[in-house]
Parts: sequence; structure tokens; C-alpha cells
Amino acid sequence: MTHAVVLGAGIAGLLAARVLADAFDEVTVVERDETVASGPRRGVPQGGHLHGLLDGGRQLLEELYPGVVDELAAAGAPSVEPLRDTRWYIHGRRLAGDTSGMRSVLATRPFLEAALRARALALRGVTLRHATATGLIEQGVDAVDGVVLRDGSLPADLVVDASGRSSRLPTWLARLGHPTPQEQRADVDLGYATRLYRRLPGTAFSGVTVSTVPRFRGGGCVAVEGDRWLVTLAGMLGDHPPTDPAGFAAWAATLPAPDIAAVIADAEPLDDPLPYRFRGSRWRRYDQMRLPTGIIALGDAVCSLNPLYAQGMTLAAQQVRILRTQLTGSTAVDPRAFHRATARVCAAAWGVATRSDLAMPEVDGRRPVWTRLLDDYVRRVQLAAHHDPVVARAFMRVANLTDPPSALLAPRLMVRAVAHGSR
Ligand SMILES: Cc1cc2nc3c(=O)[nH]c(=O)nc-3n(C[C@H](O)[C@H](O)[C@H](O)COP(=O)(O)OP(=O)(O)OC[C@H]3O[C@@H](n4cnc5c(N)ncnc54)[C@H](O)[C@@H]3O)c2cc1C
Repeated sequence: MTHAVVLGAGIAGLLAARVLADAFDEVTVVERDETVASGPRRGVPQGGHLHGLLDGGRQLLEELYPGVVDELAAAGAPSVEPLRDTRWYIHGRRLAGDTSGMRSVLATRPFLEAALRARALALRGVTLRHATATGLIEQGVDAVDGVVLRDGSLPADLVVDASGRSSRLPTWLARLGHPTPQEQRADVDLGYATRLYRRLPGTAFSGVTVSTVPRFRGGGCVAVEGDRWLVTLAGMLGDHPPTDPAGFAAWAATLPAPDIAAVIADAEPLDDPLPYRFRGSRWRRYDQMRLPTGIIALGDAVCSLNPLYAQGMTLAAQQVRILRTQLTGSTAVDPRAFHRATARVCAAAWGVATRSDLAMPEVDGRRPVWTRLLDDYVRRVQLAAHHDPVVARAFMRVANLTDPPSALLAPRLMVRAVAHGSR
């Protein structure tokens, strides 16, 4: 009998369970949260805040769990065309256009997670165990054979660490005398505040996103399951939204577009504003070190990104897709090959998040000349997207990780971006 253990039943863990179930006789998902609640839970403190699923991530979820997006929609999560049904403001002005060829499913994070959990636990051989992992078992030389739990232990042929940003894997490796990964950091001191409101039928839009560009304040307001608005306000570099109701509303009124403040003014609040503080992006470079066999890591445990760009769940799904290709026909994964392959998708996502942050002069960091040229071009693309639906569509598809960034460098698009972006 072959056995894989996944640490953490978050998005990365539930997606990893899907591909492990094809390769192993048994898969145990170890999750420290006892209650499988439908609301935010302790182990996922970010769970109460807006979680936009990029179109690239939606496609991967569909690939892993076919029909899951329709299931979410049937259960009440609005399914929309992002350019037509939601309003996007960058540099204070709305993007043009009404077709992107993409689909967004608007759901709270607990709702999405519950759907994935149900799918994972319906797979042959997959079980959930409520326990806290506290270490690794290593009987052979340089080979992990299982995990230590607070209430026992679990032998495993492969351990997958999907325990999120607070992963203790570096400490566990050090305890066994192994090297630990270098950590790359990019600090942004981002503050979130989120509140739910009742949504009455008949609103003209399903969502509004006000980008933090060009200043530090932004926000999102999306229609979610249960006929509710989920409103998240966000501020960078210490400019955090308040969490008292009056301050929350007043802060929303300072955004360069009025739509979110209008929802807050008209709709009935269902809870109090909930805070979250995110110090910065972190990338643990397992790709640059030698790990023992039998252990790999993915999701936020490896790369946890500034959430303003909504890449985290999609990046986790991309890493799981790589795991699937490496597991084809076997249960052995070479940690080095795996982490080197996933480092490529992490690098792309890291680049998007940190380059956008560095475009703000106040953010600390080195800016080589070529990135300044690229930033200038991206700014022109964004400005052109206010007038030109073709540019807006191309920009949105790249931002959603549906098309590669190189799509913005197509000559036809560059001509439009330079012409319209200079207005
Ligand atoms: C404020 C905020 C907003 C975000 N918004 C978005 C967004 O709009 N779009 C997007 O794609 N991403 C967003 N993200 C990122 C997203 O939450 C994560 O990237 C994504 O959920 C993948 O995380 P994960 O599954 O690796 O970890 P998590 O979702 O954090 O799950 C880790 C799990 O491991 C469990 N666990 C931890 N330690 C142990 C242990 N020792 N033993 C057993 N279990 C353990 C935890 O209880 C938890 O269930 C946001 C993040 C933040 C902070």
C-alpha cells in the first residue's frame, strides 16, 4: 500500500489531494482546524477577505475537479463575464470594453474551500484527519518517512507540505540537521478591512475593483453567494483602512471611484469590519537547496504573495499541475526537480507582484533600467485600456493569468498602447 500525507486542507492541500489520489493507494489530508465550518476559520485567517479567483486558476480548478465551477454557480455564487459585469478602475478611471472571453465565479473563500473539500473527500482513498503536524519522521538517511502529529504519527511514502504561510517546515528540517531554505522578501505593509452587506436584486454590476494604482488605497466589492456583497478595502505602506463602521465608510469615500462607497452607503451591513495585516511577500527557495527525499512543499508554504494581485490560489493550482506531471506512472517525486519546476511559476507570479509594488516610488527595492522601461509600457497599456476595448481585453487576460505577459508585447497591441496610452 502506498500512502501520501498532505499537511493542510487549504486550497493547495485540497488540490494536491486530487493528483495524489491518482498515484497513491491512500492519501491522508491532515488539518489542524477541528471544525469544518462554512465561515472563516482559525487556520486560515485570510479566509474572511475577498478572494478573487483568476480565470487562469478557474481553468485549472476545472481541469482538476471538472464541473466544480458550475456547482458553485448552482449553489449561488455569481458567475460573470469580468469585463462586462464588473467594473475595473486603474489610475482612477474605468477600463473600457465588455468582452474578455473569460469567466469569473464570485464566491467567499470558505464557500470555495467547502466545494473543493467535498470533491477531495469523495475521491477513492482520500481521508481527512483532524490533527496538528509538529515534525517529520526520518528513519533512513536523507529520507522522510512520515510526519509527527501532536497525538501520534503517520508513516508516509510522500509528505506534501501545504500548511500555508505559517509552515514550520524550515524548523522541522533544521531539527533533523538539514539545511533550511533562503527566504526572499518584499515588504509592503498592507492592511485589509472587510465587511459583508445584504445585496438586493437589481444591481447594475456584480463587482467593482479599484486598484491601488497610482496611490496606496484601493478596494473590491463583489457579489457573493447568499445574496451578499463582500467589501474589502486595502491600503499599502501603513495606510490601512479603519475597522470602525464610520471610519470604514469614510475611508471608502476617499477612493478615486464612487461605486464602493455607494454600496456601503445603501446596503445593510451583516457584520463588523474585519482586519488583516499582511507584512509582505515571502518566497522560501526550496529550489536552491537539497531536501531529503519524501518531502515537498507547495502553495503559500513556498510562495506567499501580496494578495492585491489575487494570484495565490492560481499559483497553488499551477504547482499542483506540475506535481501531476511529475507523478505520472510513479509515486516517487524528486524534490529538487519538483521545486525547480515550480520555481518557474513562482518566479513569474513573484515578478508580477513585486514589479507592480516597485512601480510605486515609495516601495523600497532595486529598479533596474529594463524594469523601469517595462513599467512605463505597462502604465501606457493601463491608460490605453481606458479608451480601447482591445487593449482592455488583452490587459485583463494577462492580469488573470489566462494569457502570458508576452501577449502585451504583440506589435498590433503595442501600436494601440502607445497611441492611446499617451493621451
Ligand atoms: C488577505 C488575503 C487575501 C487574499 N486574497 C486572494 C485572492 O483574492 N485570490 C487568490 O488567489 N489568493 C488570495 N490570497 C492568497 C490565498 O489565501 C492563498 O494563496 C491560497 O489559499 C493558497 O494557500 P494554501 O492552501 O497554501 O494555504 P492556506 O490556505 O493558508 O491553508 C493552509 C492550511 O494548513 C493548515 N495548517 C497549518 N499548519 C498546520 C499544521 N501544523 N498541521 C495541520 N494543518 C496545518 C491550516 O489550518 C490551513 O487550513 C489572499 C491571501 C491573503 C492573506
